[in-house]
Amino acid sequence: MDTQTMDTVRHNLLGRSQSLLGRRRWTLTEFGRIGESEAQTLARIQASLDRLAGGTYGDCVTCHGAIETERLRAMPEVDRCGGCTH
Ligand SMILES: [Zn+2]
Repeated sequence: MDTQTMDTVRHNLLGRSQSLLGRRRWTLTEFGRIGESEAQTLARIQASLDRLAGGTYGDCVTCHGAIETERLRAMPEVDRCGGCTH
């Protein structure tokens, strides 16, 4: 993966994380309104940022192949390639 794609993906991840956190803070004022799927997405975004920092971002956790760049651009928090998702 080239540096420009990495920057794009990192930017996407941070933007999504911030928008989720913002919404989460807002819903915390109304008890128990945090969507479980939002919390899971946030955890996946956090894990993706960790992988970016650790240099393993873009590797499929199942087959250890490279995840398709188009896929990462569309869904930067994915941790499996197209072949392993089905
Ligand atoms: Zn795979």
